[in-house]
Amino acid sequence: MKAVVWQAPGHIDVEEVPDARIEQPGDAVVRLTMSAICGTDLHMVRGTMPDMVAGTVLGHEGVGVVEAVGKDVRGFKPGDRVVIPSTICCGICSYCRAGYNSQCDNANPNGPAAGTCFFGGPRSTGPVNGLQATFARVPYAAANLIPLPDAVTDEQAIVLSDIYPTGWFSAQCAEVSHGDTVAVFGCGPVGQLAIASAWRLGAGRVIAVDNVASRLEMARSQHAEPVDFGAEDPVATIVELTGGIGTDRVIDAVGVDAYPGPDEQHGERREGEVAEAAGGGVTAWAHGTAPSQAAQWAVESVAKAGSIGIIGVYPPTARTWPIGAAMNKNLTVKMGNCPHRVIIPQLMDLVASGVSEPAQLITQLKPIGDVLAAYRTFDTHEPGWVKVALAPTA
Ligand SMILES: [Zn+2]
Repeated sequence: MKAVVWQAPGHIDVEEVPDARIEQPGDAVVRLTMSAICGTDLHMVRGTMPDMVAGTVLGHEGVGVVEAVGKDVRGFKPGDRVVIPSTICCGICSYCRAGYNSQCDNANPNGPAAGTCFFGGPRSTGPVNGLQATFARVPYAAANLIPLPDAVTDEQAIVLSDIYPTGWFSAQCAEVSHGDTVAVFGCGPVGQLAIASAWRLGAGRVIAVDNVASRLEMARSQHAEPVDFGAEDPVATIVELTGGIGTDRVIDAVGVDAYPGPDEQHGERREGEVAEAAGGGVTAWAHGTAPSQAAQWAVESVAKAGSIGIIGVYPPTARTWPIGAAMNKNLTVKMGNCPHRVIIPQLMDLVASGVSEPAQLITQLKPIGDVLAAYRTFDTHEPGWVKVALAPTA
């Protein structure tokens, strides 16, 4: 089968590899009809995500058709259309049963304390071969396949695999409720869906902060109020727009990419860059000694007694966050890797009924053979490139 394979920092390739197959009785094999490139994948291409294992298939977003099931998989059969959640859970342990699927005890082969398990990640996350391929092995398939109704297209479903649930989870973490004024830092695909989710949860106003014009324009098309941090002081602007109070809720959809640290040392970071935060990724990038710019702005722009939701990815080694300022404002802060499994079904209903149309975020659909060029172009924040879907069988 064809797959996008990580070989070394900065070196990925489309290769012919052995077909994914059933290895455990709980496995399924899915023939992928759509995959996608996520901001997290870029860190592997850039070489800023350490501990990748050579030969790992990349990608953690996938939609497809069940090709085969192990003998313990009773709820699905070959031919079923499914979406695959980015983070992998067992469906058995107490965390999975409580809805903390991204903190599953069993899915990560490195043990219960090893952290979130997801497709196509570094050694510490499994590794489990990813979804930018013709076929994928899905472990614990009873818990990690979600059926797709006919009314939901592949383009809609690929957004449900990771970024829409992550955007929704960010608004939940920020405790968005009726009438709230919400600031969203980072307007990549996840940030756009955080904006949509904030509206859906009853926000009264949404302010969107980024410095990429096309992303701010997309935020405006959702009727968020764009703030360009490249042209104005975002904190002062937010304070002014909110009558001197600040926003009730802040969503940090940026994470580690806003650190003023290691990427600059490597000469790779572009001035003023705020890159896409990815869902479902625990990684171990090096980081600076100062809090991320997004974290500082979040704490400064939120109202007293407000709340902050963090889904932008921070490395486990990060030790810095503006805790003093937050404590003295009586803030509530919630964060984490999205528990995709528990969120996807409720969003499926919104998409299937036409209430929500996330597929408009997909601006490119590329055959897998064009993936290397697609990675490069996506990495440069080319205007108009918001979300890149891949056709694995093309
Ligand atoms: Zn579990």
